Amino acid sequence: MNIILMGPPGAGKGTQAEKLVSKYGLVQISTGDMFRKEMKEDSKLGVIAKFFIQYGHLVPDDITIDIVRERLSKNDFPNGFILDGFPRTVVQARSLESLCKELGFKIDAIINLDVDFDKLIKRLSGRRVCRECGATYNLEFKPSKKPGICDICGGELYQRIDESEDAVKIRLQTYTRQTRPLIDYYTMKGQLININGDQSMDDVFKDIEKCLGV
Ligand code: ADP
Ligand code: AMP
Repeated sequence: MNIILMGPPGAGKGTQAEKLVSKYGLVQISTGDMFRKEMKEDSKLGVIAKFFIQYGHLVPDDITIDIVRERLSKNDFPNGFILDGFPRTVVQARSLESLCKELGFKIDAIINLDVDFDKLIKRLSGRRVCRECGATYNLEFKPSKKPGICDICGGELYQRIDESEDAVKIRLQTYTRQTRPLIDYYTMKGQLININGDQSMDDVFKDIEKCLGV
């Protein structure tokens, strides 16, 4: 089963992807996580990505499509994959279609998590991420047991560089301008499954399972 998880920043894509990974053994492919890894390593790609990410802009399509092509080419998903945060533009969606043809993959479900912008700002400002293992918490909705410390590995929790008030504003504008058109794109193809993301994390997951028929 190969799934695309769509939705604005903070809609819960990573949270739901984690649940799908642990229950169904799918592989999560998060372009955001891939860029953050490169930034942590200070690689050439990381330096370029940071330039865009820190201000809330998208990384250019050609760079993003290249890293997805490289990742999908590994073909190491016996149970399928979840694309989390890709595609984010119509150009990326079209490239993914060619890539799937070329590599022999089929996308089985395109799920859009729908959450109002005022709720997203609250979620994003409270998001904290483990520096070591990348686990995600929320000061209000999913606090760690010890403040500032990851429950899983004891790593330090930090706030992402693109979660300042200004960057969040730009990210939401970027979403509206460049990513929201994908909702029409996939709706017109009859492929989009809309899910109310403004529910508890477990209820969102139940709805996803219902739609997938698993
Ligand atoms: P995305 O990957 O779409 O950017 P995340 O899964 O990282 O979003 O979630 C953003 C923040 O909101 C995180 O701090 C997460 O713990 C929290 N969160 C995710 N889903 C929910 C939910 N259903 N209700 C409340 N908070 C949530
Ligand atoms: P995320 O972790 O999905 O919120 O992504 C963090 C940031 O990485 C985004 O705000 C973009 O700057 C960049 N990014 C992630 N995925 C993509 C993508 N598919 N296309 C362009 N930029 C991306």
